[in-house]
Amino acid sequence: DELISQIAAGEVVERPASVVRELVDNALDAGSTQITVRLLGGGVRLIAVEDDGIGIPKDELAQALKRHATSKISSLAELEAVGTMGFRGEALAAIASVAEVSLLSRTGDAPHAWLLDARSGELSPGARQRGTTVEVRELFYATPARRKFLKSDTTELAHCVEAVRRHALARPDVGFAIWHEGKLVAQWRASLVARGEDALEATRARLADVLGDDFVTEAVTLQWPADGSLARGLRVRGFAGVPDAARSRADQQFAYVNGRYVRDKVIGHAARAAYEDVLHGHRQPVYALYIDIDPARVDVNVHPTKIEVRFRDSREVHQAVQQAVQSALAVPRA
Ligand code: ADP
Ligand code: MG
Repeated sequence: DELISQIAAGEVVERPASVVRELVDNALDAGSTQITVRLLGGGVRLIAVEDDGIGIPKDELAQALKRHATSKISSLAELEAVGTMGFRGEALAAIASVAEVSLLSRTGDAPHAWLLDARSGELSPGARQRGTTVEVRELFYATPARRKFLKSDTTELAHCVEAVRRHALARPDVGFAIWHEGKLVAQWRASLVARGEDALEATRARLADVLGDDFVTEAVTLQWPADGSLARGLRVRGFAGVPDAARSRADQQFAYVNGRYVRDKVIGHAARAAYEDVLHGHRQPVYALYIDIDPARVDVNVHPTKIEVRFRDSREVHQAVQQAVQSALAVPRA
């Protein structure tokens, strides 16, 4: 069982950034409004993710670390329609099999927090406000071969920051902070108007915060269908920009499906096709696309890291994305 979980861990945990991503997923699933990530040694020595979410009840702490333990799904039917980030119940178990993990958590009705040390199984009283802190120390301590594969602290830190950035661009209603070796690396404040009508405007502000004002000044708002309705079970919204050659960067292409960051060939191809007449030379398109689709029309259960999706009808998605980006780019700019 130890071996099985280590093999599974290999699929989920590749480097510190994979841990960061899973822990932030969990913090978001717990309804947090502020998430703080603290790192040491590029995340190899320590990753601590602190949230103000619903917390984990004392008697569920040990359960949370078990393989296939998830509080988020209880039937196959639900698996079809998952609205949460996590649903496999694999992440914490996988992480705990390749690092030293502790959980400190307090629910709203608990008189104090509880601390669970994963390795010893010891449960002891602790102190914190409502929410959860997950600490992950000495990643791959027992597998030096895999630890050797990690890059420099600077590189691993950059990947960790990128993991948080991907979340931050989808959730302007949540505040994020990242610390490394006691220094604040990035901080994005929660927008108060991020829910409902103004969600897209809040997203624009968050994009400016995270990617810089350039991105937003150059970017036009896009929406498909034009009225922004979800009546057809598919909607594409977001921002597309035409960078000048000097500022062209390959890492400013973000796509989300039902709130999850994805790398998807269909979306990427559709966006490139839309840019065909606009971009010349070696410039890279810049865009942030938010696709909402009927959960029954997309399979998110393709890969353990959930970064890939499979659309039931990829032509439909391709067309929607291409049209959305094309019509936005066709609007004359000042
Ligand atoms: P999954 O997210 O797929 O359910 P995980 O292994 O990531 O599986 O987490 C296992 C369980 O631990 C979750 O289902 C949830 O009940 C609990 N959990 C983990 N992190 C948090 C958190 N930050 N706040 C509240 N509950 C959490
Ligand atoms: Mg999870």
